[in-house]
Formats: sequence, C-alpha cells, structure tokens
Amino acid sequence: MALTSLLRHERRALAMKLVDRELRTSPVHALTGLPEPEIRSLYKMKHDRSPPSGPMPSSSSFFTSRRNQAEVTLFGALYRHLGGQKIHRHLSADILMKAHDLYRDIYPEAGSRKGLNFTDAWVIARDLKSGATRFVPCRQCGLDYLIADEADIPPNCPFCFFRRLRKQKVGRTSDRALSA
Ligand SMILES: [Zn+2]
Repeated sequence: MALTSLLRHERRALAMKLVDRELRTSPVHALTGLPEPEIRSLYKMKHDRSPPSGPMPSSSSFFTSRRNQAEVTLFGALYRHLGGQKIHRHLSADILMKAHDLYRDIYPEAGSRKGLNFTDAWVIARDLKSGATRFVPCRQCGLDYLIADEADIPPNCPFCFFRRLRKQKVGRTSDRALSA
C-alpha cells in the first residue's frame, strides 16, 4: 500500500507499534509518513526518554566479525523467507516486524549478548533494498550468506569459516590425545 493512501489513524497505529520496538525516528517517519516531531513525542510518551539521535548506521558496521556476519545473515534469511523477492523493491513494516520477532525467538537477548535490535533490522532491510547488502551463494557449502559494501571483513562465507575453525579445533584436540 502506498504511504499516501494510509489513513491518519492507521499511520499513527503503525507508528505506535514501531515506537514500541524502539525504532528510531527517521525510519518510523519513512515507514509511516508521520511528522518527525509527532513521532518523537510518541516515543517520549512510551519510553519516558527522547529517542536516540545522530546519523543512522549502515549495514557494513555490523560486518565486524564472522560471528556478526552470520547473525546478520540469520536475520536476512528470515526476512527474505517471509518477504520473498519483494524485499529488494519494497520495505514492508509488517514483514520487518514478523522477521524480527522470529529472529528474537531464535536468538533471544541474554546477558551481554544483545543481538540485532529492531533499528538494526531496519538498517539491514533498507540496505537489502538498495543493494548495499547482498546475498551471495557460497560455491563451497551452497548456503546463501550476506555481504556488505565497505565491510571490515573480506566477503567470504561465514559458515565455511566456522566449519574450518571446527576442523582445526578437532585437529588440535586429536593431536593432544595422540601425544598424551
Ligand atoms: Zn560456505
């Protein structure tokens, strides 16, 4: 549905849902068309503090390690599973919420392990739409994984990385067993 055809109360209801998830102001504005001052006051009402400000991150900031890349890939795979090829043309708030809920079920926040918050999820969805983040099929294991422009790590498969790591670990363990 085009933003212009959203009724005002529908926009506000959607903005409330997004603000509940602590989505930052500019993406809420992009998804609902509601004026930013109104979104900021909704946020303050809900969370008793102002929404965070400053520039939005890009997906490349999540690609700092193979583990983080695997996590972004997990979210991206869920989002693509629910949204299909449409995700490359359109960012649907509904699909985004469903994908992030599913991601949270699989990967709950625990202690210092925070995972991707809803704003992070929006950033990934935005960059999947623009192409700044892309799925690449791994020629070795056959799984699709995500890469991003200007990421810190080389654009290789995170799953093959962990598989190699495991092999090395197992190798070291059996070496020790042999020399014991
Ligand atoms: Zn692979």
